[in-house]
Amino acid sequence: MLTDKKIARCDILVIGGGPAGLMAARKAAQKGVKTLLIEKGKQFGLKVCGEAVSTATFAEAEVPPSQNFICGEEIDRVLVYAPEEEKKVEICAGSIGYDGGYILNKRAFLEEMARLAFQAGAEVWTEAVANQLLRHNGLFRCVVATNKGEQLVEAKIVIGCDGVNSLVARRSFNRKGYRVIPCVQYQMDNCHLIDKRTLEMFVGNNVAPDGYVWIFPKGKGLANVGLGTQGAPARRCLDRFIKTHPHRFKKARVLKMGAAPVPIGGQVEEIVQDGLMLCGDAAGQVIPLTGAGIHSSIAAGKIAGEVAAEALLEGNTSREKLSAYPQQFNKVWGKRISDSLKAQQVITKLSDRELNRLADILIGQDIVDLANGFNLVSVGLKLLKYPTFAGKIARRLLEKQGR
Ligand SMILES: Cc1cc2nc3c(=O)[nH]c(=O)nc-3n(C[C@H](O)[C@H](O)[C@H](O)COP(=O)(O)OP(=O)(O)OC[C@H]3O[C@@H](n4cnc5c(N)ncnc54)[C@H](O)[C@@H]3O)c2cc1C
Repeated sequence: MLTDKKIARCDILVIGGGPAGLMAARKAAQKGVKTLLIEKGKQFGLKVCGEAVSTATFAEAEVPPSQNFICGEEIDRVLVYAPEEEKKVEICAGSIGYDGGYILNKRAFLEEMARLAFQAGAEVWTEAVANQLLRHNGLFRCVVATNKGEQLVEAKIVIGCDGVNSLVARRSFNRKGYRVIPCVQYQMDNCHLIDKRTLEMFVGNNVAPDGYVWIFPKGKGLANVGLGTQGAPARRCLDRFIKTHPHRFKKARVLKMGAAPVPIGGQVEEIVQDGLMLCGDAAGQVIPLTGAGIHSSIAAGKIAGEVAAEALLEGNTSREKLSAYPQQFNKVWGKRISDSLKAQQVITKLSDRELNRLADILIGQDIVDLANGFNLVSVGLKLLKYPTFAGKIARRLLEKQGR
């Protein structure tokens, strides 16, 4: 039985030390409120990840890119292969006005994020699992299993950054429409990569139904080779892809394997309650068509940490006060996530024949606009010029935009 003597008290408890939680803890602590972050892993960044990020992610995280947590070279090109692989769309970062990106060593990057949270004044516990969350006299009490036994933590605000299986979400939020896609990834060496600055993605119903395969180069023949798919066993699809691409993987070895789901159903409707907030994967804040969530999770954690600290300093932790968080987040990310979801709902229904045809019509900018939810209308209008092949797809995209 836990007694009051064992209670650790803080203003803000952040559950989960992924990109969202580490940013939230740093921002809250920088405002001078007593912040505790708990992470169940022994280390940060143990979850499998493709590790691809845009350069803008570093600015969001307020961490300059460094060789300490970047693998290989700067990425400046993406190739998206149609089911007939000789058909592909090339996206060159420079020519469409975007900075490129990098493949992270995510573990090292999150270590740096944890160091910055600690430096800002946050207390950080690893090997600490939140097992129960209860309200008690207007505060929250969280039962945390640590390697030294059970510990009760009391907090005025709890920020749930605890990923797909979030305890905070299960305990207190209705995540209607929350949908995940199973993903599996191998880290492989001795891969034959077309070049070290190019990300490669493969779509098609034979390759990855309702998803895609990625090859992300980490330098010196090392690569993250993974796949997300629905309606077919992910690992079997990945093994088949590797087997059917011997020119790439004949000499390759699997060094590591991991599997985890990615939320691709869009942001859930409710992400704040009195004293409670949800961020990152827990809130579905992932770009649905690509499954990218590192940048958006850091952005969410940053706003949530600041809003929570300000609410505490003003002595008002009500849902209304905390709603500044979704309002600010949605200004930048709300439409991107919802438009990418609309594009995903159209694209994943396409036959291989339609995907092949699209590869003839679309250029790099169109793919970026679709995938990131930047501009569905311009892609829809372009496709309308090809009524026999692409008119149906165009109409579906434009309908989704209320046109
Ligand atoms: C296979 C795969 C490939 C991906 N590739 C990319 C990519 O290339 N680029 C990209 O941008 N995104 C990618 N993503 C998505 C990206 O990993 C996530 O969107 C991002 O990590 C979300 O950050 P988060 O902090 O919300 O959650 P997470 O990174 O999931 O972190 C949650 C943390 O909470 C901890 N936790 C959970 N429950 C508890 C508990 N009860 N108590 C204490 N701690 C707890 C976990 O251990 C974890 O560290 C990929 C995801 C997968 C699965």
